[in-house]
Amino acid sequence: MPEMPEVETARRLIADLALGRRIVGVDDADTFVCRPLSPGQLRDALTGRMLIAAHRRGKALWCETSGVADSDPDLGPILGIHLGMSGRIVVTARDGWVAEGGDPPGRDAQPRKAQWDRFTLEFADGGRLALFDKRRLGRIQLNPDIDALGPDALDVTPAQFRALITKGTIAVKARLLDQSKIAGIGNLLADEILWQAKVPPATPVNRLQRKDADRLYRALRSVLASAMAEGGGAHTGDVIAARRPGGTCPRCGAEMLHGTVGGRSTWWCSREQAAWPRTTEPASR
Ligand SMILES: [Zn+2]
Repeated sequence: MPEMPEVETARRLIADLALGRRIVGVDDADTFVCRPLSPGQLRDALTGRMLIAAHRRGKALWCETSGVADSDPDLGPILGIHLGMSGRIVVTARDGWVAEGGDPPGRDAQPRKAQWDRFTLEFADGGRLALFDKRRLGRIQLNPDIDALGPDALDVTPAQFRALITKGTIAVKARLLDQSKIAGIGNLLADEILWQAKVPPATPVNRLQRKDADRLYRALRSVLASAMAEGGGAHTGDVIAARRPGGTCPRCGAEMLHGTVGGRSTWWCSREQAAWPRTTEPASR
């Protein structure tokens, strides 16, 4: 699944190769990927415009569009692109050179079938931009609701993080995955962050002390920095390879445990991330 670093590679690809190219054709016939829009609605909304900026918050990607002609001062609608579970952006340059960004290729390295291009913009120069999505779980939207997302995980400040992470009683892993609180942390990144910070994934967030929240914040920064440096590699974290039966903690060698936390498959170190003991309530005051 593309996590935030992979989505950022897709954003950069669009920013580097797809901006400023006049759209002359739109294939929006996939009514599932483009739901609730009808075929032709995206075509009518985008034809004649150019993508002029590419933005990302968390795993949400969106593009601003220009007016329909150079003389048109009004901006067009926002084009929202969600890569889903396995989507990639494929941009064909003017000279026919093809570049991809998004979910890393290779794990399902098979010939690309034309019908897996779920949405396509054709440019006046003969190139194109496609959402390639074999599993068809990506999504194309007009004017998506970006405000429903919390601050991007790369931009969140320590104070913001503390405030967002510690309120309530939900498991800390579920909170890390809540895109309305902090946008951009997926399942693998969450396990890596919790492991680096040595925090048990099911810990209720109101049990986190300030030092725990700050340790989680430092782990978040470090995990994201190395994932981004890998050029889009949520799959390259230190504990990711140990997320398997018989896996051992790469730091202390203890057995890795598996369970479901926050509705997601979760792995943690049996020793360093053992559940914290319950606080004993005073019997009476
Ligand atoms: Zn360990």
